[in-house]
Amino acid sequence: MENGSRNNALKPMDSEQLREYGHQMVDFIADYYKTIETFPVLSQVQPGYLHNLLPDSPPDQPETLEQVLDDVKEKILPGVTHWQSPSFFAYYPANSSVAGFLGEMLSAGLNIIGFSWVSSPAATELEMIVLDWFAKLLNLPEQFLSKGNGGGVIQGTASEAILVVLIAARDKVLRRVGKKALEKLVVYSSDQTHSSLLKACQIAGIHLENCRMLKTDSSTNYALRPESLQEAVSGDLEAGLIPFFLCGTVGTTSSTAVDPLAALGEIAKRNEMWFHVDAAYAGSACICPEYRQHIDGVETADSFNMNAHKWLLTNFDCSLLWVKDQYALTEALSTNPEFLKNKASQANLVVDYKDWQIPLGRRFRSLKLWMVLRLYGAEILKNYIRNHIKLAKDFEQLVSQDPNFEVVTPRIFSLVCFRIAPVDNDEKTCNNLNRNLLEALNSSGKLFISHTILSGKFVLRVAIGAPLTEEKHVMEAWKVIQEEASNILASQVN
Ligand code: PLP
Repeated sequence: MENGSRNNALKPMDSEQLREYGHQMVDFIADYYKTIETFPVLSQVQPGYLHNLLPDSPPDQPETLEQVLDDVKEKILPGVTHWQSPSFFAYYPANSSVAGFLGEMLSAGLNIIGFSWVSSPAATELEMIVLDWFAKLLNLPEQFLSKGNGGGVIQGTASEAILVVLIAARDKVLRRVGKKALEKLVVYSSDQTHSSLLKACQIAGIHLENCRMLKTDSSTNYALRPESLQEAVSGDLEAGLIPFFLCGTVGTTSSTAVDPLAALGEIAKRNEMWFHVDAAYAGSACICPEYRQHIDGVETADSFNMNAHKWLLTNFDCSLLWVKDQYALTEALSTNPEFLKNKASQANLVVDYKDWQIPLGRRFRSLKLWMVLRLYGAEILKNYIRNHIKLAKDFEQLVSQDPNFEVVTPRIFSLVCFRIAPVDNDEKTCNNLNRNLLEALNSSGKLFISHTILSGKFVLRVAIGAPLTEEKHVMEAWKVIQEEASNILASQVN
């Protein structure tokens, strides 16, 4: 047995063995997708479950791929929440696709580290080309394209995108007003802005008391009011502070609120602030001409970000960031150690993406985006988005027709925010009922949804956007939600 396992041992790099085992692995993953509906969508394991199942130390001798895959089936998969399940409706989606998967495979196979152009010229050049393609799909202003001072770059996540532009903006304003003014710098956003902005402020040394998370409410469907921004900026200027960064969101995390970009951008411009637009989730929808209006006003922004890895069939991670002024990024983030010096960089002939991001090393992520764009084409991608939005529209209609429920904010994209409706304005009981409903739904394993709080209301979120989701899954989810709600409401009465 020991000899057998040695003979089967994986060699670090053997093409024939890769071919054989690669087939086995692809079969394993294809079978996983084929049977994905048999798993509870949300993993039902208890914290620490895996410690009891795996040994305390690694094996001394090689084990076989079969042994490992058996353990994946028996020990790992029970602890996996199935984001690719057609009944996954939580958070926002994280799409896998055949094209995205193959792109990841190719990138893993080449395994280059594309920190500077010379370290793998195709990685940099393909990224520039694909980001220009994508900017055209979104009809972004020309200034975001790579032919001038602007350009796009792939970050790992929207959080990193926000961090790098915040650092670029910070250094830009400090060059103007002097380094000692850091404590006077003020950041603005709405209270619906993703928490990654606050984290970026912490990392960038922005004083947290200078972070204005301006209050929103249902009167604007949780979009930031330009008047609130103007008032806050004026107050800060009077207090001798320095407004320098505004983050607007198209498609907030809680409820897909869309901030009014043009009006916000105008205020940012008047006050010499950097204006970043975060469209991490909803940016994908804006490739469809009928949804493009939601980023109208993006021409006033200094930077724009969307996650192809959320809702556009591109496997994680692939967060697209465009800036109008690439030098703002490179002035803040470039390094030039001796061991990386090379002719192309010294002569300023090339882009070195290491200077547009936090780490030095970077993956060949553009391959998968390129493959997604080529193997599906823009029309299929647009129809993919449209189908999810239609399913969400149907779901919203079903909710609104049931007197036990109410839609909490009007649906804009493919997220529906709803809840069991309150009786006699009893918000406290209503919140508890919805909390119980969420718990019951997710522990059933039949679907997975998440929640948020809007104006003190506990709200259920159904985000439609998994690649395998069809009408029947949405209808089935609604049936399960209605049944669980009836049980909960009935037990209330008894
Ligand atoms: N911005 C918005 C609007 C989001 O919805 C999210 C995540 O859902 C993020 C930022 C953070 O995304 P990431 O995980 O790519 O950092």
